[in-house]
Amino acid sequence: MLLHDTFQRPLRDLRISVTDRCNFRCTYCMPAEVFGEAYQFLPRAELLTFEEITRIARLMVRLGVVKLRLTGGEPLVRQELERLIALLVQIEGVEDIALTTNAYFLPQKAQALKDAGLHRLTVSLDTLDEAIFQRMNGRRSTVARVLAGIEAAQRAGFERIKINAVVQRGVNDDALVDLARWAKAAGHIMRFIEYMDVGTLNGWRMDDVVPAKEIIARIHAAMPVEPAEQNYYGEVAERWRYVDGSGEFGVIASVTQPFCGTCTRLRLSPEGRLFTCLFGSQGTDLRTALRDGADDAALEDIVRRVWRVRADRYSEIRTSLTGPVPNRVQMYHIGG
Ligand code: SAM
Ligand code: SF4
Ligand code: SF4
Repeated sequence: MLLHDTFQRPLRDLRISVTDRCNFRCTYCMPAEVFGEAYQFLPRAELLTFEEITRIARLMVRLGVVKLRLTGGEPLVRQELERLIALLVQIEGVEDIALTTNAYFLPQKAQALKDAGLHRLTVSLDTLDEAIFQRMNGRRSTVARVLAGIEAAQRAGFERIKINAVVQRGVNDDALVDLARWAKAAGHIMRFIEYMDVGTLNGWRMDDVVPAKEIIARIHAAMPVEPAEQNYYGEVAERWRYVDGSGEFGVIASVTQPFCGTCTRLRLSPEGRLFTCLFGSQGTDLRTALRDGADDAALEDIVRRVWRVRADRYSEIRTSLTGPVPNRVQMYHIGG
């Protein structure tokens, strides 16, 4: 029996953030002026162990989850992440396990991830322009390094890699057609993401958002496209295929065309809190019960209670909200 929330949305996806640390300082996620040398990240003892994560994932699968995505922070800064993947792939009923990464450690990690059984990879790359890319990631990486990571992933056997690009007006929007052209030629699937007001630190303004419609129009003018059908219920990307048959790209229009109505995602933070929305603030602690020896039935009960009362639809109501921004969870903490 599937678990449904107050809007009859089933629980289908679990996004697991394995760390709040990252080796990048993307301006829209972990601005360097906030996350300096002295910033206190979660101490190791606070993090769920791989065994604890696996136990939670297993009971989520019993409650209806079929897709898992590992994220962060940067998931590959967590030591031996492949060990977690090897545990997760053994869970019966999981149809898909994906990982979102900034690609920095892919040259040394891609093969181990593939061998552990990871199904799919998403790599974040906001532009092919070296100077702009470095400005966007706080000078922690280069385009060349990301491309080397992607090549290593291909050599390891990953195919149809998804490439995430957050589009910000006046920052990287001029180069989005170049990115689309590159991905099309290389056989990757671009996912252009509207810049979101996640967290409280990036100084988001509506004027910085390039609406998905405009992204599509710009690409269409250079390389004609037509709409493609959804792959599955609740898919966040709106897909477009090139009319010359050479592939597709997608837009994630979380700001201008919110998709809360089919949001089937639950998020697990590195220290074991459950968030039913990317724009949540507190979450629900699962770790205390877990470490106090709760059995699976008791843990499942917590998840059931959390999901059954879920009424989140932040993106649909964002423009009607007034007053100060509440203390929202940060993107680097629960992942995208
Ligand atoms: N560190 C990994 C990476 O960057 O791929 C995984 C975590 S990151 C938080 C997950 C995704 O969220 C990335 O593709 C990133 O570009 C995206 N993201 C971060 N902040 C965002 C924002 N304010 N709006 C839209 N997407 C954002
Ligand atoms: Fe790190 Fe990813 Fe956030 Fe960039 S988007 S700072 S790579 S967690
Ligand atoms: Fe889901 Fe919340 Fe995003 Fe809406 S705003 S799609 S409910 S995560």
